[in-house]
Amino acid sequence: MEESDFSDVLASVREFIRERVVPLETEIDEKDAIPDSLRDACKAMGLYGFAIPEEYGGLGLPLSQEVRLVFELGYTTPALRSMFGTNNGIAGHVLIEGGTEEQKNEWLPKLASGEVTASFALTEADAGSDPSGLATTARRDGDEWVLNGSKRYITNAPLADVFMVFARTNPDVPANRGISAFLVPRSAAGVSVGPKDHKMGQFGAWTADVHLDDVRVDGPALIGGEDGVDKGFITAMRCLAHGRVHIAALCVGMAERLVDESVSFARTREQGGHPIGTFQLIQGLIADSVTDYRAGHALVLAAAAAFDAGTDTSVGPSSAKYFASEMVGRVADRAVQVHGGAGYMRGVPVERFYRDARLFRIYEGTSQIQQVIIARGVLGRL
Ligand SMILES: Cc1cc2nc3c(=O)[nH]c(=O)nc-3n(C[C@H](O)[C@H](O)[C@H](O)COP(=O)(O)OP(=O)(O)OC[C@H]3O[C@@H](n4cnc5c(N)ncnc54)[C@H](O)[C@@H]3O)c2cc1C
Repeated sequence: MEESDFSDVLASVREFIRERVVPLETEIDEKDAIPDSLRDACKAMGLYGFAIPEEYGGLGLPLSQEVRLVFELGYTTPALRSMFGTNNGIAGHVLIEGGTEEQKNEWLPKLASGEVTASFALTEADAGSDPSGLATTARRDGDEWVLNGSKRYITNAPLADVFMVFARTNPDVPANRGISAFLVPRSAAGVSVGPKDHKMGQFGAWTADVHLDDVRVDGPALIGGEDGVDKGFITAMRCLAHGRVHIAALCVGMAERLVDESVSFARTREQGGHPIGTFQLIQGLIADSVTDYRAGHALVLAAAAAFDAGTDTSVGPSSAKYFASEMVGRVADRAVQVHGGAGYMRGVPVERFYRDARLFRIYEGTSQIQQVIIARGVLGRL
């Protein structure tokens, strides 16, 4: 997008987040739901499709612009971003990366407008960090495929209209080569969604199990068509690499908010007749968080630029996700410390962000998996 148009988008998203969403954060956390008014506003602003190409109705932002948008989204509850995150990110990207032209034309405009919510269904009870161990199967039966299995912790499953399901199509080749991806409408017979998971944080964002019991889909449901047979794992890894830079940007946005909360509290809270911000030990906590935030900001911009240029689509995304997710954990911990007892109380933003931030080190690849990818990337085959 032209920089001048993009600046307008950024300014309106910034205003929306700070003036309309921030005041509702506690309500979202307590009710575990995003108000419909915010959902509708996000649709109207094009937020369901910022990463979807313009020819399919999205804003078509390259990753370098996407991360600047996500810095703004990260300033508030991550549940807001999660609501449209799967359409733009891991689920929508399965189609962008691996879909046929017909599949893109049919589904991407509906994802971009928010008419349809899509989920990315890779993880299973016994296949998380190593998804090549997944047990869900897809068996050919004439022109149809028959899917059986269960997926776990699937973001937006309770709302989803369609699932991008990864299933084993060929048990006779090495584990990660025999997997394909399928578009499975929620309305298909045999699809059921379990109860909402009771999570630690990020209330307002929902996950659940998805069960597939003899689900029949026809040939066009195979992502990428016949060329997509056994290519699902590669598609999933490409989507996750893009998603990792996105999550890193979200962490940076949250870190900025945590710094702002810490600074304003340290300016106004007094002990012994002095604002706590005058104490050098409090200054040390704040200085460390500002430094962490700035390092994360610079790293994410660099990783996004290298991703767009095609010069680094693996170590860069993993380093950004690893550093930024660990970084926001440290910043959240210091923010609670700066707030003293208040930081441990419900209704105080830093308490909520402390819980919300914990997820970033776990999903879309744990910190240990990012370490493995980074080390393999630089060591090469030994
Ligand atoms: C709120 C939430 C939302 C999610 N949304 C989705 C979604 O939309 N779609 C989806 O498909 N999945 C989703 N997930 C799943 C998520 O990606 C997995 O939980 C994550 O990848 C970790 O897998 P696991 O939970 O099975 O843990 P495990 O893989 O069992 O890991 C347990 C521990 O072992 C470590 N470990 C595992 N393998 C290695 C290794 N090789 N080297 C070193 N350490 C290792 C891990 O780092 C971790 O510390 C979500 C999870 C959560 C909690």
